Amino acid sequence: SPDALAALKADLSGRVVLVEEPARVRKRSRDFFWYSPVLDAELKGLSGDLVAEPASEAEVIAVAAACARHRVPLTVRGGGTGNYGQAVPLHGGVVLDVSGLDRVEWQRDGAVRTGPGLRMNRLDALLAEGGEEIRMHPSTKRTASIGGFVAGGSGGIGSVNYGQLRERGNIRAARVVTLEPEPRVLELTGDAVNGVAHAYGTTGIVTALEMPLAPVHPWIDVIVAFDDFLTAAEVGLAVGRDPAITKKLITPIAWPLPQWFTPLRAQCPPGQAILIAMVSEASLPAFRARAARAGGTITLETPLDDSPGHTPLYEYSWNHTTLQVLKTDRSWTYLQSLHPADGLMESVAEMAALFPDEIVPHLELIEFAGRLTYAGIPLLKFTDAERLNHIIEAHEARGVSIANPHVYTLEDGTRHKRAETDQLGFKRLTDPMGLMNPGKMRTFTPAAQGA
Ligand code: FAD
Repeated sequence: SPDALAALKADLSGRVVLVEEPARVRKRSRDFFWYSPVLDAELKGLSGDLVAEPASEAEVIAVAAACARHRVPLTVRGGGTGNYGQAVPLHGGVVLDVSGLDRVEWQRDGAVRTGPGLRMNRLDALLAEGGEEIRMHPSTKRTASIGGFVAGGSGGIGSVNYGQLRERGNIRAARVVTLEPEPRVLELTGDAVNGVAHAYGTTGIVTALEMPLAPVHPWIDVIVAFDDFLTAAEVGLAVGRDPAITKKLITPIAWPLPQWFTPLRAQCPPGQAILIAMVSEASLPAFRARAARAGGTITLETPLDDSPGHTPLYEYSWNHTTLQVLKTDRSWTYLQSLHPADGLMESVAEMAALFPDEIVPHLELIEFAGRLTYAGIPLLKFTDAERLNHIIEAHEARGVSIANPHVYTLEDGTRHKRAETDQLGFKRLTDPMGLMNPGKMRTFTPAAQGA
């Protein structure tokens, strides 16, 4: 209510930087939900009432306490690059921009402890001095924060080696501020980190993270062109399984998607599928041999460069593949699928043939439960929600599971349609009044209104 907001502002003024100018607040209440025509219709125009910019954990605690005392919703924001409206406040209130919490505390024993607001490319630049890098990052590495990745992302470049973010050991520890009149600070380790991982900021404010690291390699960006998509996918899988090749990204993409990769036109021959890869420099001879044996033509081979003014190939992979297409044609949207590791290539071939006029395949090789398999982020020609649901059901009926990117609640976006039990229980401890990003965990009801 306006009274509660006024009281909250009075509480915080002079203690935490607050932004109230409506245009600036609206801008920082948005993310990339417009990717989905369904979410665009549902979330367009929603906004918080003000933005708080804490510079320390103590200031985070002050905001959390004020929100709890005055019953004002709070939505945490990192880089604002989520694509399911994760950072969009459904019920107004405070947008807590944590980008000021960007300090690395230490790097040792193959891990780093850092504030959540640090951008991942900045984090990797700091880590490289010690010969290490984060195990995996989303294709939005240059704009997204490490805290937003943990709370809103799922995996990406590096997942071919380490699996998705939520696989055991990929987050070592998280420090969490609860949303209560007297906020507590919890240190989560081991499996307890699942309470906040991919919880969309509904279960507490992450103020520090301990992430395991990987050795840094001189990565080479490579494109190989193939006459057909299935050959590209088969070579990708073979490269993934080849212990002589150190890799970080393996992405088969069917034509006509590369036709929208305008700056790469010369490297994407018309009518051909491509395989995008990041391999270590020392692995290039083994990689080239595999590509050549399968009839592929290498059209690009260049050291990874993601400094300003350059576009790394990873910005054509994962959800950036979708973005590159949407830049010119908004009639497309996408799905997120997971093929079974058993009968993988049969499954890939079956799905590539099933909706030839509506779906164009794009795969990402990942480790899943200890085995290599393909995740898919196919482009989908959008007609309406009913058709979309039919296509999703057709995938699931064939053993290809779908994480629906056209919904904003945690439960509906996962394969099992429920909040993980550890997250629902954890929310009762960290946010008993249900003020954190309300509406995103739909199975939660605050105790006062519960059954
Ligand atoms: P935000 O969007 O700011 O926040 C994401 C969620 O985390 C929100 O619910 C927010 O409330 C919560 N949150 C943020 N910080 C905290 C905190 N400190 N404590 C508690 N909750 C918090 N995702 C992938 O996993 N892999 C990809 O490859 C990938 N590619 C993408 C490509 C494009 C073009 C786009 C638009 C998105 C992509 N995404 C991908 C989604 C998104 O970019 C990533 O998940 C990214 O890591 C989110 O980070 P962020 O800082 O932008 O988070």
